Amino acid sequence: MAKCALFLFFSCLCATTVCAATVPNASFEQADGDGGSGPANWTTNQWGSVQANFTWTTAGHAGRGARVDVTASGSEGDAKWWGVDFAADGQDKSYTVSDWYNASVPTDLLLWIRFADGTESYHPVATLPATATWTEATFSVTIPEGAQRLRVLHTIGQVGFLEIDDVGCVGKDGTTPRQGKYKATVSFTFDDGWLSAYNMLIPRLDKKGWKSTNFIITTYPDKPGYQSDYILSKHIKALQDRCHEIASHTLTHPDLTTLSTAAWTAEITDPLTTLAGWNVKTPGFASPYGAYSPEILAALNKLYPYARTLHPDVNLPPYNVHELNGHVLTNVSTDNELEELLTRAEQVDGGWIILVFHRASADAPSDAYVRPVQFQGFVDLIEKHGAKIETIGEHLGTFQCTELPPEPTLVVGDKALDPPTDATRATTDSTTAGSTGGCQAARKASAPWLLFAGVVLLLCVRRRRRNRNVRPH
Ligand SMILES: [Zn+2]
Repeated sequence: MAKCALFLFFSCLCATTVCAATVPNASFEQADGDGGSGPANWTTNQWGSVQANFTWTTAGHAGRGARVDVTASGSEGDAKWWGVDFAADGQDKSYTVSDWYNASVPTDLLLWIRFADGTESYHPVATLPATATWTEATFSVTIPEGAQRLRVLHTIGQVGFLEIDDVGCVGKDGTTPRQGKYKATVSFTFDDGWLSAYNMLIPRLDKKGWKSTNFIITTYPDKPGYQSDYILSKHIKALQDRCHEIASHTLTHPDLTTLSTAAWTAEITDPLTTLAGWNVKTPGFASPYGAYSPEILAALNKLYPYARTLHPDVNLPPYNVHELNGHVLTNVSTDNELEELLTRAEQVDGGWIILVFHRASADAPSDAYVRPVQFQGFVDLIEKHGAKIETIGEHLGTFQCTELPPEPTLVVGDKALDPPTDATRATTDSTTAGSTGGCQAARKASAPWLLFAGVVLLLCVRRRRRNRNVRPH
């Protein structure tokens, strides 16, 4: 253990790292992507006077394992296998660190820790005795405050062999996220435009500053008889003001594959007019019930930059942008189901999960619903994994948006003036036709209202800038 300073130095040269009983390939079964010459997500490291050979052995504790044979050693140095590091759980300070090992000489189990300020350190877990056969090593470790990333290292520093398998590192409550090599991207999508999702789910994303993609049945907003269940056009505008993406989910939500060509053509083409009226520049599309035919798919290719299906799988590059996988989370979906998706997405650079939600209610009576508390659990789990959150259009480069600043409260002397009314903001919104009522009204103003007018003018300018940021087809 006196070797830690040098050990640290050499360890920094390593590209990748180790851990987690439940991380895919913690048991060394999967081959890497480069022709299968080594285990996926693992590499090797030796330093100091130590000379070693590394083997991806077929005689592990169960199935394959990893072996190190040290052929020469000196005053310092060691050799070891490295896997993928993972996030420490901010809640957990107590971990169970474990592996199965077989060694001809004493070896060392260590925990590598990276802290929030970027510093790294190595914490000895145990010096393990030589064994006659495969043996399980399990230790409880209390990690220091501020630990952000962890990895388990099992090192050998003298001539002899060390075999390891089934490496584990789990928080006390078993909730430590199992993070892979890459960050997953997650898109939240809401189908149909349910008011309950608008009221109970999307605010939970707003709290994190996360954006969503909303597939709207374009004849429903403001339609008599539908207003208690579906969002109104004013809600669509409010979503857009907060940089949520609006997209197409047909005119009336039929199963497109049951319609005549003329009818399905209208269902996918006519929403574009309504969406343009809502100032949506390059809307994407999601088919009701995920149903489409090769003919419909060909038409969608011409009309929309992307289309999302209901194939419940992770999207891996190169993406099939008109048949994007969409995974529905329902009233019976669990954290484990989502965890599995995240873990898979994290194994591949560009792994992307598109989640699909419909309605929300506390009792979630059918699979069209999720419970708000359940949804919050999904949000927290995704945050814990450090996933990148983007709308579909953001991820594909068809949608960009800069959020407007909050409405100003003006103070003249010690008197607070009312912020712009909804009516004023509504007028300043229609900037595409050039100089607007709001801006002209601002120019006519006088006395203390000149300050107010200045801010309205600023809002006009900012909003125009945002509109320009939305890419055309
Ligand atoms: Zn739908």
